[in-house]
Amino acid sequence: MPIHDVESLLARVADPAGDAILDPATGDEVGRAPVRSVDDLDRAVANARLAQPAWAARADEERVRLLNQAADAVEANAAALAELLSREQGKPLDGIGARFEVGGCAAWLRATAGIELPGGPLQAGDDVRAEVRYRPVGVVGAIGPWNWPMLITIWQIAPALRMGNTVVVKPSEYTPLSVLALVEVLNEIFPDDVLTVVPGGGDIGARLTSHPDVGKIMFTGSTATGRAIIRGSADGVKRLTLELGGNDAGIVLPDADPRAIAEGLFWGAFINTGQTCAALKRLYVHADIYDEVCAALVEVAGRMPMGRGLDEGNVLGPLQNRAQYDIVDGLVEAARESGAKILLGGDPDPKAPGYFYPTTLVGDIANDNPLVAEEQFGPALPIIRYHDVEEAVLMANGLDVGLGASVWSADPERAREVAARLEAGTVWINAHGMVNPLVPFGGVKTSGFGLEFGVEGLKGVALPQVLNG
Ligand code: NAD
Repeated sequence: MPIHDVESLLARVADPAGDAILDPATGDEVGRAPVRSVDDLDRAVANARLAQPAWAARADEERVRLLNQAADAVEANAAALAELLSREQGKPLDGIGARFEVGGCAAWLRATAGIELPGGPLQAGDDVRAEVRYRPVGVVGAIGPWNWPMLITIWQIAPALRMGNTVVVKPSEYTPLSVLALVEVLNEIFPDDVLTVVPGGGDIGARLTSHPDVGKIMFTGSTATGRAIIRGSADGVKRLTLELGGNDAGIVLPDADPRAIAEGLFWGAFINTGQTCAALKRLYVHADIYDEVCAALVEVAGRMPMGRGLDEGNVLGPLQNRAQYDIVDGLVEAARESGAKILLGGDPDPKAPGYFYPTTLVGDIANDNPLVAEEQFGPALPIIRYHDVEEAVLMANGLDVGLGASVWSADPERAREVAARLEAGTVWINAHGMVNPLVPFGGVKTSGFGLEFGVEGLKGVALPQVLNG
């Protein structure tokens, strides 16, 4: 199996005439990404459609073997993939960063290969006999964001390939090189046209969405684009899995130990420098322990090094792009002007290179402040004081999003009671944002619909057929 370094991987996937992709930490060029046309997309879909029946006709054991070999190939090339990901996305090599993401790709491929296929008898008796089978959809379109570009691509493609579909991937225009390089490595294992990437902008995504020969769209990104995908796919009544924006609430109950939970709260919020769909984005803390929780968070946050991802030891990096930097900066400034208290951070240095926004904690903030009500998607956490749990539950449920949530308490039973009342696809207890390849994950309300991971994820990229009689 070939083992690449970053430069050889880049040489295979980059296009000298393509768009310059800049390192968000330094502004240096990482490489030039090809930009494909809608005609290129149409050709890719046509080839994927031609390749699909033979892929589906292979024995499941063979697809399992190839998914495991793909995991081996990712592991063999992990150093180059992590370095490229760090340079393009900005995340540190260390911590819950680029090495973690590449390792997650291999882990997810293996876990998806190991799941028992869904389907089988529903009822079996003398009079009634029914069975459900799960057949491939055909060609699946996978459209992804820029925050976890490799891992989210694997989340979308691994179950689709296992179920006998072929896949056309449209990566984010901010992080195309990472996805192109990952697929380059995977395609040393998979047959031609089973897995294709077509880099480009929203026009490519829109065409994939409305393409008559694409049976299913796996989409991860913003709620605004999710709405466009629902509209664009309506004529074909296309199957959709939509993993959209979130604004996850965490509720700290009065019996929690502030020092014991501070590090968990910190990483729940600041994983990937806050650029994570199911990160903790608004924290509700009971008045009895509000000051202690704020102080413990300031202590933990203050000792987490932020810097260029390739410099070992950093655990926080820059924002991936200027637009996201401006959103975070604007929300923190508006919070400051409203009278909220900046406990840590704020005040980015406008002359410093890169899109670094300091780790920021904002206290004494009203629940209707935009930093609370809107998705900041960056390293700035608002901490809201509450007085009774009913009020906290109402505030947590008060937005139209519902991806994740968490409850923090010394009494797990009490925490579970509160958790059951939260309107979110996943509610964690004394943790936030931890995902597992065997545990279903998905949003409610405007955070989307459909489940990824585990056997539910396999069902999501298949067409159920009931044989009755
Ligand atoms: P985005 O919606 O701007 O872009 C996502 C992808 O959609 C890109 O590849 C883009 O080119 C493509 N696209 C743009 N217009 C399109 C159209 N009309 N039709 C089809 N595709 C189109 O999202 P982003 O800024 O890259 O990602 C950040 C957002 O993603 C945040 O809101 C975050 O919460 C969300 N997110 C959600 C999850 C989840 O699992 N729920 C995971 C990661 C990120």
